[in-house]
Amino acid sequence: MFETTSLTINKSAYQNNLKFIRQHIGEKVKFCSIVKGNAYGHGIAPFVAMAADCGVDYFGVYAADEAFEIKKTLTKNVSIMIMGMVAGESLHWAIANEVEFFVFDIEILEAAVEVAQSQNKKCIIHLDIETGMNRTGIERSDLRKVCNYVKAHQDHIYLKGVCTHYAGSESYVNHERVQQQIVNFNKAVEEISSYGLDPEYIHSACSAAMMNYPETMSNMVRVGIMQYGYWSNKETLIRYSDQVTEDSILDTSKALSRLLEWKTTVMSVKKVEKGEFIGYGNSYQAYNDMTIAVIPVGYSYGYTRALSNKGKVLIGGEEAPICGIINMNAMCVDITHIQNVQKGDEVVLIGHQDEKVITIASFCEMSNLMNYELLTRIPHNIPRTVK
Ligand SMILES: *Cc1c(COP(=O)(O)O)cnc(C)c1O
Repeated sequence: MFETTSLTINKSAYQNNLKFIRQHIGEKVKFCSIVKGNAYGHGIAPFVAMAADCGVDYFGVYAADEAFEIKKTLTKNVSIMIMGMVAGESLHWAIANEVEFFVFDIEILEAAVEVAQSQNKKCIIHLDIETGMNRTGIERSDLRKVCNYVKAHQDHIYLKGVCTHYAGSESYVNHERVQQQIVNFNKAVEEISSYGLDPEYIHSACSAAMMNYPETMSNMVRVGIMQYGYWSNKETLIRYSDQVTEDSILDTSKALSRLLEWKTTVMSVKKVEKGEFIGYGNSYQAYNDMTIAVIPVGYSYGYTRALSNKGKVLIGGEEAPICGIINMNAMCVDITHIQNVQKGDEVVLIGHQDEKVITIASFCEMSNLMNYELLTRIPHNIPRTVK
């Protein structure tokens, strides 16, 4: 309540995105909402509460602390899977609380079974298969051993899923590599079932794979960026637009809506004479007599310094360009062309004001950072409100 800036998350935009995604994946494919990275900066607690309210009942995170946050937030029972590392205390907690996790080597499996035995429970696992990304995953040569181990410990293992992750499904440049990964994954899935194992879910598609390689959807998709209203990259949007036929129900502009808006208020308004420098150093010299507004947000708020002298905000329904270097807690914007700006006026950093809009995509173009990175940089302590 004392913060100088806040974020709002738009629920109807989320419902719109869910509708679009469900239409694309069809009835039979399970939707798993990926909420790692503080729900891509949207705030994991408010986001999952809203998503659960919209009927989402499966969440994917990267670590146990995020799973813990979901458990703490939701009263209703949902499935949660940890896609990253679980060990020690977090492994004990996950198994005790029926939180699922990826198994990417036999050591994790052995440790999990030991804990499951001590708790007289089953661990709920997803076998993560190495198919060519070379990050985590069970090597093909270890598959037999892992499967035999799973079979021998059925009393303490529930094999919920078999999965992989594609490296580069967002761009055709990686087509050969992704195709090879798909082939490798399908072979591994076949081999696993040849041992008599029958996982509930086969899942490999992230947002980009789900759009560009719909054959990878199997019976579950793990969707991050698109549920928040962003295309994985421009190419994925263009490829989708090319397929849209005239009778498509949704046109691309309505397909996804961005959930997040980021606002603050004007802290101070002042005049600067022609020739004066604004802010630290000499990167910005007043081209004329100017009026500037000081905004109480800087790079410590995740507003990247790379937007110094490049970014824009909205004030009074107009674009106000950033002048000078973005400071830790403040920045200056040019409002010479905007009438009657007062201390306390609304400033939009991301989102709409009247007819104008500032998008994360425009940040990306100006700063050469990915939308994923810009979103997750927004600090946890800025209050988020669902509207
Ligand atoms: C982040 C992540 C996803 C979701 O990716 P998006 O591109 O945001 O849809 C899916 N699977 C794994 C393993 C991930 O790490």
